[in-house]
Amino acid sequence: MFQVIKEFLNSLLLREMLKGMGLTMSYMFTTPITILYPMEKTPMSPRFRGLHALRRYANGEERCIACKLCEAVCPAMAITIESEQRADGSRRTTRYDIDLTKCIFCGFCEESCPVDSIVETHIHEYHGEKRGDLYFTKEMLLAVGDRYEAEIAANREADAAYR
Ligand code: SF4
Ligand code: SF4
Repeated sequence: MFQVIKEFLNSLLLREMLKGMGLTMSYMFTTPITILYPMEKTPMSPRFRGLHALRRYANGEERCIACKLCEAVCPAMAITIESEQRADGSRRTTRYDIDLTKCIFCGFCEESCPVDSIVETHIHEYHGEKRGDLYFTKEMLLAVGDRYEAEIAANREADAAYR
């Protein structure tokens, strides 16, 4: 009986609604945790795993030695590599494709690479309007690496102590 009366009074005095409004009002005096994306952005870890890139050495030579470790370790089988031996005896890729529709951004390719060639950049604002747009070829990956090399190098330097 006491419980019924209590529920009746709560209902009559709109207690639940007032409690909810009080909670809402309390947030008017706290610092907002939401941001106005894309005008505002949150800080990003140097370990963030975004769009892939293939890097070069300072002399312009491709870092990748076509060892295919990244291809072997990729759990999504998103990487396809073909290679050949150059006249000077070095081995380089003739094809290096990543199908980003398969990629799960696990970072295994980056971790497995012995020469820091394939990396994942901070870039996450990209899209494709059809499936083929997210199929990144060697030339596209090298172009990303060329464009963002300074940031990639700085991020790897910042994370070097933990690798
Ligand atoms: S991030 Fe993971 S899933 Fe994506 S290409 Fe690299 S190894 Fe494969
Ligand atoms: S990107 Fe690195 S791991 Fe992959 S084939 Fe080239 S050298 Fe080997």
